[in-house]
Amino acid sequence: MNFDDTPQEATFRAEAKAWIDANAPKQYEAELSKASLGRIRLEKADIVEVGKAWQKKKAAAGWACLQWPREYGGRGATPIERVIWQQEEGVYGKLTQPFQIGEGMCGPTVMAYGSEEHKRHYLPRLAAGEQIWCQLFSEPAGGSDVAGLRTRAEKNGDNWVINGQKIWTSGAHYSDLGLLITRTDPNVPKHKGLTMFFLDMKSKGVEVKPIKQANGMQEFNEVFFTDVVVPDHQRLGAVGDGWNVSLTTLMNERMSIGSRLATGFPEMFDFCASWAVKASGLKYTSYRAISALSKGERPGPENSIGKLVAGSMLQDIAMHAMDLEGAAGVFTGAAEEEARGQFQQMLLSSPSMRIAGGTDEILRNIIAERVLGLPGDIRVDKDVPFNKIPTKGR
Ligand SMILES: Cc1cc2nc3c(=O)[nH]c(=O)nc-3n(C[C@H](O)[C@H](O)[C@H](O)COP(=O)(O)OP(=O)(O)OC[C@H]3O[C@@H](n4cnc5c(N)ncnc54)[C@H](O)[C@@H]3O)c2cc1C
Repeated sequence: MNFDDTPQEATFRAEAKAWIDANAPKQYEAELSKASLGRIRLEKADIVEVGKAWQKKKAAAGWACLQWPREYGGRGATPIERVIWQQEEGVYGKLTQPFQIGEGMCGPTVMAYGSEEHKRHYLPRLAAGEQIWCQLFSEPAGGSDVAGLRTRAEKNGDNWVINGQKIWTSGAHYSDLGLLITRTDPNVPKHKGLTMFFLDMKSKGVEVKPIKQANGMQEFNEVFFTDVVVPDHQRLGAVGDGWNVSLTTLMNERMSIGSRLATGFPEMFDFCASWAVKASGLKYTSYRAISALSKGERPGPENSIGKLVAGSMLQDIAMHAMDLEGAAGVFTGAAEEEARGQFQQMLLSSPSMRIAGGTDEILRNIIAERVLGLPGDIRVDKDVPFNKIPTKGR
């Protein structure tokens, strides 16, 4: 394999580098360059606002959502060009965090299932950072088993009325729009009665309640829906086909988490180099997925491998780092945090990376069944009408 730039790629890299040198918000470079495992923030500025300004500037010059078609706010770039851009964007890429769910999951889903009018309206605004999107899938009774969700959508004329609850919704507190999966028919097996919509997060009846995390951050939320009205034209895909639509989102999610997940390896290099082999394996596994994308193939179940390995590696490194730090590992506080406390933050955040975007066990099931072709997991409720599945108290 040859990983050197082709002449066209080298030209693209030089152009990207020159634009970033001339336009990046350099006043934040030092802060963004500090290790920030588990928490990305700026001392004197709101990272969402700084991110919006950076995203807007990139979009105006054609450097946002590079792989998207131009008419939807992108550049029509190849997957390799997108990787080159990310390499050159470097630490400023941390400013794109609020937009990653939109770019990586909601946008591709709208692109695949939205009307032309919606695509031309919403996607350029998403690309320019004007509107932030969140993903409203998980529920108290439907996490790994997303198809077990209970949020209802009932038809009322040209509208749908939504009632129920989502949980663990990253960024809901600053999002403008949400991709929402609901149950529209409880009389058929659980995967068949689902329908996908998108909605304005400021709609009447939407209530966002922040969840405070063990590491002191507050990144995700509970979202409650009480008689929320969503017009039928905001449906994505056919009524009852929400499961298929959600697969587009989830495969893109694993691709985007697996390829950008911080592993902690650079921070740990000074202490120990024993993870080098795994880190290289991850890098080239993600390159393999990118090569497949550049040949026009869709992100497939093999992307689960990257996330599975990176998630456990992050936790492994954090635990070893804490051991190596000894007594210093217990220090935390305003002055210590960035220097020594980073591994405490990493340790506290690391279990979440083994859950978000599909737990380790679920990814192993996907790899076993869909990559290795092993026999499927036992799914006793697969063909049972949803409202006949026994629940507590019945
Ligand atoms: C940081 C973070 C951000 C998140 N952001 C979002 C978001 O923006 N939007 C959103 O919708 N959701 C989000 N989630 C939720 C996430 O998708 C779910 O937490 C995840 O799918 C697991 O679901 P659960 O928490 O209900 O756990 P459960 O599904 O209850 O799983 C509990 C345990 O049982 C195991 N298990 C379950 N089923 C099986 C099986 N068939 N075989 C073997 N083991 C099994 C799991 O692996 C796990 O260990 C986020 C989660 C985290 C941690």
